[in-house]
Amino acid sequence: MADTFSRFARQHALKVIGPQGQKRLLETTVAIVGCGALGSAQANLLVRAGIGKLILIDHDTVQAVDLHRQILFDQRDVIEEMPKVLAAKRRLNAIDPQTEILAFHTRFSPQNALELVAEADLILDGTDNFPTRFLINEAAIITGKPWIYGGVLSVQGSVMTVLPNQGPCLCCLVPKAPDCNKLPTCKSDGVLNAAVMWVASLQVAKATKLILGHTNEQVLLHGLDVWEGTVRTIQISKNPDCPCCVHKNFQFLQPPLH
Ligand SMILES: [Zn+2]
Repeated sequence: MADTFSRFARQHALKVIGPQGQKRLLETTVAIVGCGALGSAQANLLVRAGIGKLILIDHDTVQAVDLHRQILFDQRDVIEEMPKVLAAKRRLNAIDPQTEILAFHTRFSPQNALELVAEADLILDGTDNFPTRFLINEAAIITGKPWIYGGVLSVQGSVMTVLPNQGPCLCCLVPKAPDCNKLPTCKSDGVLNAAVMWVASLQVAKATKLILGHTNEQVLLHGLDVWEGTVRTIQISKNPDCPCCVHKNFQFLQPPLH
């Protein structure tokens, strides 16, 4: 216990966490969907903060092009062609072996989404595409679990918390998933690693507040520009005609027709 106390002494001293908050973190399970840039930064922060259990979901392997922004990985992972979730687990276990890490080397899909998040208290978006975010949104609405959207491109990013049965969902904000083929991507426009860290940090700060019981706050959409050093924040309202959180029309969780 002495080791645990000294490890988290700076969080015990922190008014917004303290020993009670630390205990709550230890009792919490977070699912991270996507273990790339955002996901590895989120997992890094949460394990260092003393989260009890992480569920990591990702289908990809580590490549050299990932290393400039995916902070859990290194050259050895590239050479060994490690699945990201297994490389992440190895690194996270080295940071703090007390956090339980469940690693799922699979695509987050309509077939497994509900099962993968079943154990989680909340879900973090570490993905890079809207179809998967809509799938997370639907799984969260069905299970009543909060999730925190995060997106990053170039030098900018955005973050929003979704509290099912309480506030607006992703579908209230974006009624229809945009056509991925028409959207810029990190491959086409690049991404500043500092922008990734800022977005992931805000997601983890919001997750920590939820874990510690701050669940009655206004739902805000934050637009970050790390190059300019600016944040724009707007309040989001629930769409009374939302197909997802109001009408429970779950288009993404339905398995594809063959
Ligand atoms: Zn909605």
